[in-house]
Amino acid sequence: MWNIDKAYIDGAFVPVQGSEVVETVNPATEQVIGTATLANRDDARRAIAAANRAQQALRRTGKAERIEMLEQLSQAVLARTDDIRDVTIEEYGGPLSRAQWVSQYASQCFAGAAKTLQSYEFTRRIGEATVVMEPVGVAGLIAPWNSTAGTVCSKLASAIAAGCASVIKPSELSPIQSQVVAEALHGAGLPAGLFNILLGRGNDVGDEISTSPGIAKLSFTGSTATGKAIARAGIDTMKRVSLALTGKSASVVLDDADLAVALPMAVNAAFMNNGQACVAGTRLLVPRSRMNEVAERLGAIVAGLRVGDPRDAATAIGPLASRAQYERVQGFIRRGLAQGATLLAGGEGRPAGLERGWFVRPTVFTGVRNDMDIAREEIFGPVLSVIAYDGEDDAIGIANDSAYGLQAYVFSSQPARAHRVAQQLQAGTVLVNRIAPELLAPFGGVKQSGVGREFGVFGMEAFMEPKTIAEAR
Ligand code: NAD
Repeated sequence: MWNIDKAYIDGAFVPVQGSEVVETVNPATEQVIGTATLANRDDARRAIAAANRAQQALRRTGKAERIEMLEQLSQAVLARTDDIRDVTIEEYGGPLSRAQWVSQYASQCFAGAAKTLQSYEFTRRIGEATVVMEPVGVAGLIAPWNSTAGTVCSKLASAIAAGCASVIKPSELSPIQSQVVAEALHGAGLPAGLFNILLGRGNDVGDEISTSPGIAKLSFTGSTATGKAIARAGIDTMKRVSLALTGKSASVVLDDADLAVALPMAVNAAFMNNGQACVAGTRLLVPRSRMNEVAERLGAIVAGLRVGDPRDAATAIGPLASRAQYERVQGFIRRGLAQGATLLAGGEGRPAGLERGWFVRPTVFTGVRNDMDIAREEIFGPVLSVIAYDGEDDAIGIANDSAYGLQAYVFSSQPARAHRVAQQLQAGTVLVNRIAPELLAPFGGVKQSGVGREFGVFGMEAFMEPKTIAEAR
């Protein structure tokens, strides 16, 4: 049983001032596995003050010192990889393969930031001016529940590379993962206050971070609705804001694609992280002429997916993270049926034999129109909407007819054609014949999927501002 009642402030785990206690439930068993006492605004103020003290020294550090800090963080997190993996499974229900990937990424992102920094020039000449990239100041890093270790570590890596101290607020729905990540980061032995981590409600600790004059930059990952609230809250103190938000990504299967290769990847893209991924490719666009073949193959692929114990390496889909997520997904399945889509696989309720735990049936709808709720809204569960198109332009039009634009996927046997289609898709990232991300390339959304970019040099520059110094000759 986990009992978490401390926040990580000024280099130490200290008792929180807040008094609200939340329970954590293992989503695979519905057993209570821990409690967490949430921090409050006073805790947030202490964390912001500590970060501001640390900022003074951090902004004066050079490349070599920052690279050393990033390497220390990378080593410290690497040493806790297995623990991060295990709690990602226990608290969140992430299937083993995914939890493994996330736990490894948590240390790799520090190594990636160190590499980015190595070749980065902080100073450049423009005309007669010298332009210096300076850290923007203390950053508030706010993370969602569906990607705790990955989001916290990758934002922190970019912030430190840029020279920004931070106050980190992971989701109050993932206290155990946050605790283990905080312990791992503490193990790096960096100067006190450089990063501070506290759990709290969005309208309390989150709002304090978003409105405090002691925070210069907000880097937020979460839903579009919350992102808008944070951007509004931050504008009075003129915070620089990066928002990584909701997605409703399209996977476009062109008529020349090898379906035997493309469809397993497309299903993987839709159901990754139990379907609780911002980049999930949940709209599958297929040529009408190949619809029957697609349906037949999809039925077979989904029938072969093992749903169950996330600790088992053979499991493809674990439980959803909470009862609320389970109910939300059931609601979308009912709406899909009510609005006239056809159920090809799955449907309402739990999979046979899984009476406990927030397991849902991997579900595929065919006959979906792009104006149905299941094609327009982010479901955040393993529900795939298959939409037929007539010709390439129609496919591009349907893919782009969305409020969101985080990621898209193209499957084709002709690279040049796929590239041409990729260029016309409105998305921050387009993956062609692959679903693995390119980790140092910029990541972020267009339209309602966000503002700004993360990762690599673009992610680091999001924590910096150029200063122009022009001198008389
Ligand atoms: P959420 O928006 O409910 O919460 C995200 C974080 O914001 C949490 O830490 C929460 O406590 C905090 N928060 C809530 N209200 C706040 C407020 N008023 N002020 C400050 N902070 C506040 O999102 P969620 O349900 O935790 O995560 C799922 C969503 O995140 C999905 O929409 C998903 O697509 C999105 N997401 C996006 C990306 C991306 O990179 N684009 C990655 C992962 C998740």
